Amino acid sequence: MNIRGIHSVFVWLLVQFEYLFIGKCSRSILVPSDGSDGHSKKRRSGNNNKTATHSCLSDKEPSSSATVSALIADIMGTFTCKTNVIGALKTFCRRYGVSSIRGSQCLYEYPRKVKIVEVGPRDGLQNEKSLVPTDVKIEFINRLSLAGHQAVEVTSFVSPKWVPQMADHAEVMTRINRIKGVSYPVLTPNLKGLQSAIAAKCEEVAIFGAASESFSQKNINCSIAESLERFQAVMDAAKKEGIRVRGYVSCVCGCPYEGSISPKAVAKVALAMYGMGCYEISLGDTIGVGTPGSMRRMLEEVLTVLPADVLAVHCHDTYGQALPNILVALQMGISVVDASVAGLGGCPYAKGASGNVATEDVVYMLNGLQIETGVDLDKLIEAGNYICRAINRPNLSKVSLAKTAC
Ligand SMILES: [Zn+2]
Repeated sequence: MNIRGIHSVFVWLLVQFEYLFIGKCSRSILVPSDGSDGHSKKRRSGNNNKTATHSCLSDKEPSSSATVSALIADIMGTFTCKTNVIGALKTFCRRYGVSSIRGSQCLYEYPRKVKIVEVGPRDGLQNEKSLVPTDVKIEFINRLSLAGHQAVEVTSFVSPKWVPQMADHAEVMTRINRIKGVSYPVLTPNLKGLQSAIAAKCEEVAIFGAASESFSQKNINCSIAESLERFQAVMDAAKKEGIRVRGYVSCVCGCPYEGSISPKAVAKVALAMYGMGCYEISLGDTIGVGTPGSMRRMLEEVLTVLPADVLAVHCHDTYGQALPNILVALQMGISVVDASVAGLGGCPYAKGASGNVATEDVVYMLNGLQIETGVDLDKLIEAGNYICRAINRPNLSKVSLAKTAC
């Protein structure tokens, strides 16, 4: 059990104590409600002056005139009620990552540090219709490294026939300034891609699967099961070369063809990719349809099979839900977030799908939560403005727009 687990158990014990003992004492100060439903009581809290509706207690206070049977029924009713309250609190703490409860106040436990995986140069630029000059890509990546990122996804070793924008992958990879301590993953959908990435001295690659059968067929031309077989060959070859592999699962909150996706389907693919040897699984809301509710339900399921410290979230901002979705993920213990500077990107298979959440907006939120990222917001904004000017594209980061206007 980790520190977080021990802390949750400790909080749960405190809650039990409070409800079993302090709660029992407070029954003596129960005051009648308006009596409209014959069951509700308002009680004054033992610790403060707030009042809380309590619907489980019987109408009458025990008194010397109470019959023995009424007294037993009252005690049993109180006991059942407290058991339910404790059970509900236990479930709440477990599901929502709540680290402490005091009255009506809930405090969440956030990670102290968050690693941002900057995906702008790959996920962002691959959706640009006009070809971005190689020199611009290199300058862009160098600026992102200097902004303090720990990971910058550089390019994709896919066939130029499929993604012409990434045709210069080997040149970009070999000409960027690699900063010690920064990882530069690249996408490698198959063995051929991996071999080209190895030739370009890549030290980390990523493979991408989907939680949706239809999306898998349209995006990588094979079923989920076939894609997993294909990945195994990539995994084996990467392992031989000592190359780390990151796994992406697409469409975790919804699919452009199938609509909603079962959280169990997401958990199954994520577990399979982790079982193959991926060191981290990035859960992608590829078309940005997720909400804090669907994100939570999906993560709850995935967290039943994998620990939070091997998971990342990758949120597109189509419906403006990316930041709250990330916040929910942080509350559930996830500490790796993919983001794209200036909100670059989109999804060629989903009309209207906008880019990833803007890195500047994520960093601003994390700064506000006092979570370390190592990223310099000003330098990041400069990198975002640089690429937007170079490719004549609007900057979709609200933080960048606000700061630049200042
Ligand atoms: Zn994406």
